[in-house]
Formats: sequence, structure tokens, C-alpha cells
Amino acid sequence: MNCNEFETEIRHFIDGSIDPSQLRGFVEHLHGCPECYDELGIYFIVNTALAKVDRDEAQSYDFQGQMDILINDYEKQIHHLDMKHKTVCAITNTANIVVLAALAIAFLRWFNILQ
Ligand SMILES: [Zn+2]
Repeated sequence: MNCNEFETEIRHFIDGSIDPSQLRGFVEHLHGCPECYDELGIYFIVNTALAKVDRDEAQSYDFQGQMDILINDYEKQIHHLDMKHKTVCAITNTANIVVLAALAIAFLRWFNILQ
């Protein structure tokens, strides 16, 4: 993901509507591009501050901490998707081995190599 694509996705990232297919590229970009990380911070603070004004909450607020929590939540989602993918791959590989073994046995029996 480049900086322009990142900027387009900021609003979706903050409000939780980011397309899952964009999430990994977005998080990787924010960790590798200080300018975009700062841009995200500005959008996050403005967005969160406006929401607080709307709700008439005047106390101070840890914007950086809240943004770090949001990023951390997304990183957990990415990790969860990775683990899910690895599990599916392991199951598929096991199933492939079982099918190949069954075919090998059927082949050997077909030619009367096994009794
Ligand atoms: Zn960037």
C-alpha cells in the first residue's frame, strides 16, 4: 500500500469499516511510514475529540493510548486470520496425504502387489 492508498483508508480504519483485504497492507504501511503514522494520529485525535465534544465529555483523554489500542486490536485480527489460514493449510495438507496414500494402496492392489 502506498501513502495515497493509506490516506484513503484512514477513515475506514478509524471507524472499523476497513476492508479486511486492505487491513494487512494498511498496518504494515503505518509501521513503515512515519508520515502516515502521524497522519493517522491527527485524524484519530480529531475524530475522537469531535465525538467527545458531541457527547459533552470534557475530561482529558489519552488519544495516543486509544490509537495504540485500536492498532493493537487490528494486529490481533491479522494474527487470528494468519492462524486460521495456517490451520486450514495444515488440514488440507493432511487430507491430501490421506488421499494420496489411499490412491497408492488402491494402485498397488489393482496390480496385485499387495494381497
Ligand atoms: Zn506513507
